[in-house]
Amino acid sequence: MAKKVYLSSPHMGGYEMEYIKKAFDTNWIAPLGPNVDDFEKEVANYVGVKHATATSSGTAAIHLALKCLGIKKGDVVFCSTLTFAASCNPIIYQGADPVFIDSNYETWNMCSIALERAFNYAKKNNKMPKAVIVVNLYGQSADFDNIKKICDGYNVPIIEDAAESLGATYKGKQSGSIGDIGIYSFNGNKIITTSGGGILVSNNEEYVKKSKFWATQSRENERHYEHRELGFNYRISNVLAGIGIGQMKVLEERIKRKKKIYKTYEEEFKDIKDLQMMPIFDFGEPNYWLSAMTIKNDSKIKPIDLILALEDENIESRPVWKPMNSQPFYECYKFFSKEESFSVADDIFNRGVCLPSDTNMSDDDINKVVKIVKKIFDHDYKGDINNVKL
Ligand SMILES: *Cc1c(COP(=O)(O)O)cnc(C)c1O
Repeated sequence: MAKKVYLSSPHMGGYEMEYIKKAFDTNWIAPLGPNVDDFEKEVANYVGVKHATATSSGTAAIHLALKCLGIKKGDVVFCSTLTFAASCNPIIYQGADPVFIDSNYETWNMCSIALERAFNYAKKNNKMPKAVIVVNLYGQSADFDNIKKICDGYNVPIIEDAAESLGATYKGKQSGSIGDIGIYSFNGNKIITTSGGGILVSNNEEYVKKSKFWATQSRENERHYEHRELGFNYRISNVLAGIGIGQMKVLEERIKRKKKIYKTYEEEFKDIKDLQMMPIFDFGEPNYWLSAMTIKNDSKIKPIDLILALEDENIESRPVWKPMNSQPFYECYKFFSKEESFSVADDIFNRGVCLPSDTNMSDDDINKVVKIVKKIFDHDYKGDINNVKL
């Protein structure tokens, strides 16, 4: 069996052990410590935001962000529908109600017309949201100008879910630095990883201070353990933060390689009329976390054919995120799209595939993926996956 090719796997750069060793040498194994402080400073510096709280996961960071904005039981929070469930699960943790907003085809991210429709409905029904979670999918920023204009008009803060887009830009600004609060994830599959972790960033010092307090069990500054508020165990450990410091040193390198992967697919597939790469908008530069694509509706190839053909060669690929408005757990919540009875996100899901985008892939691995994809879209292909064998 050929060596497995992954969608996006952890890729250490060689600098991580130095900081892990530092934690061991000083016995800062316990949560918090100098690596955590340094990691927070480095990420905040890199993205151009003043303050940061490193957390045990990106999900924890979103939960803390909602708490910073005072989200509580019965509140409404708008959220991009085309995303991973971690974007909206914390809304439920807080007892609030999500309302899902559709994507546009230009960026696959939040559609400002759908957002405006949701606000119109909310205003009429006196159910205004207390926050809007905007996701930057697959490493590309949402088109924030219109989204921000609408949210500012209603005075509603934005949480920017940049879990997948560390290092991407929007009109010269770092992805994750545009919303009132931004979050990133360092889960194993993300562009850089701490094996598990996340971070909350904001220019609002009070938010970051409060998030640190809640994330350390809301322990008051007393000799004994004094608690006046509900707390959480949400901080990252000093050992894992060390991995993060090491990984920050290779972030640019990872983005470069991810871009090369995307560009290779784009160039190689440009003559396949049934296949379209996820569009890249010219308002900024993505980090190209995952190279995603869609297959035209009338193609005889379906996403599952491609996924199975790649799987046959021990190559991992995946459908696009299944939209939250179509998830059994979330379908009872409201959903707004640009046109009443058509969901762009569902359409992208039905036709989409995330191709292997692992920076650990060799050029040969990439070429193998290219060959299989080309072969399956070849006019001779008769719908039999066995024909795809190289
Ligand atoms: C990965 C991810 C998260 C959650 O991050 P974890 O660190 O896995 O908790 C949130 N939102 C999006 C869009 C993600 O891709």
